[in-house]
Amino acid sequence: MMIVVMKSQAKMGNVSAVIARIEDAGFRVHLSEGDERTIIGVIGDGRPLDRDQLERMPGVERCVPILEPFKLASKNFNPSGTSFPIGDHEVGKKEVLIIAGPCSVESRSQIIETAHAVKEAGAHVLRGGAFKPRTSPYSFQGLGEEGLEYLADAREETGLPIITEVMEPALVPLVCQYADVLQIGARNMQNYALLHAVGKAQHPVMLKRGMSSLMKEWLMCAEYILSHGNTRVMLCERGIRTFESYTRNTFDINAIPVIKELSHLPIIADPSHATGKWEYVAAAAKASIAAGADGLIIEVHPQPDIALSDGVQSLKPKRFAQLVSELKAIAEAVGRELRAQPG
Ligand code: PEP
Ligand code: MN
Repeated sequence: MMIVVMKSQAKMGNVSAVIARIEDAGFRVHLSEGDERTIIGVIGDGRPLDRDQLERMPGVERCVPILEPFKLASKNFNPSGTSFPIGDHEVGKKEVLIIAGPCSVESRSQIIETAHAVKEAGAHVLRGGAFKPRTSPYSFQGLGEEGLEYLADAREETGLPIITEVMEPALVPLVCQYADVLQIGARNMQNYALLHAVGKAQHPVMLKRGMSSLMKEWLMCAEYILSHGNTRVMLCERGIRTFESYTRNTFDINAIPVIKELSHLPIIADPSHATGKWEYVAAAAKASIAAGADGLIIEVHPQPDIALSDGVQSLKPKRFAQLVSELKAIAEAVGRELRAQPG
């Protein structure tokens, strides 16, 4: 696997000649046209490609082999960074994306009320689980398709795009019918059948980091999705398991700058699962934006004490609104933008 960096003054014809040469040799091409120069990613199945021959072609500056085990997820593959629209917002550019909503969809009225509240507070995307990965089989497992319908109703009422978790390959087509973004949960990060299925679905995906996963393993999982040509992938740091037990997880803030260096994919932080206590969510959210996160996913519930899941880490709408206004200043201080006005 390698990338071909074209000279800044390379002509269109030079680029197409290089692409033709690569395709004739049986490889696929991934084109990234930056403001400065064009970069051509060469995707193969491990067969060698004659690098010297490519380097001698007109308009080619150099060929760079990608040495990391992750190729399509590697920063070299798209040095200017990947961005894509979610509703009216573009994730992966200057704007900070705010995703908020309850852990689980519990009823039609609960999700609609929360959707209005988070929109009013400045959120851009509504979250809510319909299929829930619960530690205990006796805990609330989610409303399933009924929950997806209520999410769609909430989108209809507020205009907010929705993100929701999909847990099994067979349900990918169903969840795609409702969701604007598919969430792959921490427990399913290495569910390779599911990664293949969401890759094939060509639907935007947010891939959460497994609770005991190396960043390298996480990026290899993104690679599975990308290998199907699905480029709308964002990563989500949601805390990892350590020996510390006062908080639910240990928020690995390091992941934000490390992923930014290793990969071109947008990185979202989840301060709710990363801390597990609502009291710490604001601090972790602010730190995430300061560290360069492209967005946040935050659990918000109108009545956390009676939430069917993750109430202890859920913010009430009022606190969430306060937090968003504080985040705006932090975003601006680090050269980002937070559009907190509804619409
Ligand atoms: C969730 O987002 O509610 C969730 C289950 O998160 P995670 O997969 O990170 O535990
Ligand atoms: Mn949750």
